[in-house]
Amino acid sequence: MPSDPSSDMLAIHGGPRALGRERFKWPPPDDGVRAALLSAWDDGSWGRYHAEHTGRLEEQLARMHDVELASLCCSGTFAVELALRGLGIGAGDEVILAGYDFAGNFRAIEAVGAVPVLVDVVADGWLLDVDQLEQAASEATLAVIVSHLHGGLADMSRIMKLARRLGLAVVEDACQAPGASVGGRVAGSWGDVGVLSFGGSKLLTAGRGGAIVTRAADVHQRAKIFCQRGNHAFPLSELQAAVLLPQLALLLERNQRRREAIARLLEQTAGLPGLRPQSDGAADAAPSYYKMAWRYVPEELGGHSIEQFVVAARAEGLPLDTGFRGFVRRGAKRCRKLGDLPHTRRAAEGTVLLHHPILLEADETIDALARGMAKVARAFAAVDRPDSTNQETP
Ligand SMILES: *Cc1c(COP(=O)(O)O)cnc(C)c1O
Repeated sequence: MPSDPSSDMLAIHGGPRALGRERFKWPPPDDGVRAALLSAWDDGSWGRYHAEHTGRLEEQLARMHDVELASLCCSGTFAVELALRGLGIGAGDEVILAGYDFAGNFRAIEAVGAVPVLVDVVADGWLLDVDQLEQAASEATLAVIVSHLHGGLADMSRIMKLARRLGLAVVEDACQAPGASVGGRVAGSWGDVGVLSFGGSKLLTAGRGGAIVTRAADVHQRAKIFCQRGNHAFPLSELQAAVLLPQLALLLERNQRRREAIARLLEQTAGLPGLRPQSDGAADAAPSYYKMAWRYVPEELGGHSIEQFVVAARAEGLPLDTGFRGFVRRGAKRCRKLGDLPHTRRAAEGTVLLHHPILLEADETIDALARGMAKVARAFAAVDRPDSTNQETP
């Protein structure tokens, strides 16, 4: 058993792990959240329908996105549906989305009775290919869902111009990019409706929760009416809002730290075989990195599968995983597709994702992460898989 921590032997073969056994917990320890919980205990707001936290959170989200109206709800997944309902989308309508996106976004379109229209993602990334919008839109197409994904930010200025010309409403899914900015504006503030998530893994978390932000009073009103069943049927609680407020105050500072960590990581992993990083996507972009994505190129990694790579990386302690499955295989009964979506296929089959909590760690941990990625990539690149029946990892 090798004890030399600089050994190249992979952890799956008994070598030393690149990162220790720490698990990069999320949510992180946070004095502000603790104080908010205690204060909600002291004043009883934790158990009330109405107190001041939800109203304050809506106000702050509206201000942060430079819009008049924000409404809280139970999840980001539901917030996407609520955005569509607010826009008045329903049976017989079509909504465009990328073939590679969060699974719930496809379901949200179905939930309002509309039909998803799939367009491809760009050749070198994970964002909707804007060049396909015009061709994809039919008479029945009323909206497009645009998601900022995996550290990439969609070119919203261009999308909004084109959408206006085509008569499409834009739902801007910023669940992975709270507080990010693109083209000089906050992600989520460009679209006719912006969508946020406060789910348990997200950069702002209350365990569950979501929100929509908009300038359009009619959209806000329709969404509100949908939720009102004598009581709010899909609410975010006062207690959830209470723990989100102190996190919102730290968001931009934490986003900045995450960007620095990613810059450091990319510098140290530049030129590694088989791993092509996400680029910022648009000019003038400041991402917030809920996930960071690499394209996995098996031909440069001895022909080994992405699953083998992720198993080996996780054994090293690296918080890596595969990406979304995408909607390429959805049948023609459920959606319309623009062509065979080759880049969507590539994204669904070959995406390596880094989960964000490690990005708030010290530089030494980021350096160890970079060394771990290099260790696995080099080991994979050095050993050709002898033939297709041999599934062994180098
Ligand atoms: C997480 C996520 C959602 C949904 O958020 P939940 O609050 O978990 O339901 C929607 N869109 C994208 C892109 C996401 O990453």
